[in-house]
Amino acid sequence: MYEAIIIGGGPAGLQAALTLGRMHRRTLLLDSGEYRNATVDHAQNLLGNDGVAPADLRRRGRDELAAYATVEIRDAMASGVAADADGVRVEVAGEQLRADHLVLATGLADDLPPIRGLSEHWGDRVANCPFCHGHEFAGRPVAVLNASPHAAMLRGMLEPVASEVFVLDPARVVQVESTGDGLALVLDDASRFDVAGAFVAPVSRQRAPFAAQLGLDLQESGAVRIDPFGRTSVDRVFAVGDMAHPDHFPGPMASLAAAITAGQLAAVAIVQSLAAPR
Ligand SMILES: Cc1cc2nc3c(=O)[nH]c(=O)nc-3n(C[C@H](O)[C@H](O)[C@H](O)COP(=O)(O)OP(=O)(O)OC[C@H]3O[C@@H](n4cnc5c(N)ncnc54)[C@H](O)[C@@H]3O)c2cc1C
Repeated sequence: MYEAIIIGGGPAGLQAALTLGRMHRRTLLLDSGEYRNATVDHAQNLLGNDGVAPADLRRRGRDELAAYATVEIRDAMASGVAADADGVRVEVAGEQLRADHLVLATGLADDLPPIRGLSEHWGDRVANCPFCHGHEFAGRPVAVLNASPHAAMLRGMLEPVASEVFVLDPARVVQVESTGDGLALVLDDASRFDVAGAFVAPVSRQRAPFAAQLGLDLQESGAVRIDPFGRTSVDRVFAVGDMAHPDHFPGPMASLAAAITAGQLAAVAIVQSLAAPR
């Protein structure tokens, strides 16, 4: 019997484990090794770690957790979850594990527009977030492959950074080619745009089926609806990181810093719940 089971070993889950470990709470962290930023060599915009390799950040997080004896990590995939008044259950490789609390930190998965050559550059010269991957293209042209009203906002955000911002309909882009230090975007009329990088809007979905299995309330964005401490609509179940956001956010605040913050806040709420006089 654990006091908390965390499903997810990205920044949100690792930080939740660190905070629980520091308070000597019996914690299990499960990690299937599928990270949203798996193709990223350098992540930006995290204080003290600007340019960090995400894999290094996770490795350092695990190294730090090794100092806390009540935290156990298993590289394993959870296949089912359930919650009732007595606690939560998590199925792993046929075994039923029990805990007082469950922290879902399972992240999102992205489906990219079906453009030849695009996915090879995902997380390097192709990204979705100008806060994370924008300054790296400073002073050079960039493309926004987005036909939605959101494209105007992206253009406005990138204008002070890039020399020129092209807004292109992704349906017209047939191929993305590497030019060494940039990309060539080939359109359906054979015209080419040479840019330093491109911003796309992937279709993002829950990576794991647990929100549906538990019947958690969702936001319009498809993320799990949470309060500011990560509590979901089901007692004892928390959701943190990219997969969830509270009502006062317009959508998931998908960043390392936001995921780390959410993991810590949920862990604080769990520790306080465990410590509360009964
Ligand atoms: C291309 C790209 C570039 C980015 N660049 C930056 C950047 O430069 N700076 C920045 O701040 N942010 C960046 N981000 C955003 C950042 O990567 C995410 O906000 C962050 O990784 C979210 O962390 P998370 O812990 O919520 O999810 P993830 O890191 O995706 O972790 C999810 C975890 O859940 C686990 N999991 C899922 N299902 C199961 C299961 N059934 N059983 C067990 N484990 C499971 C996975 O294995 C994984 O450990 C980028 C994102 C993308 C897509």
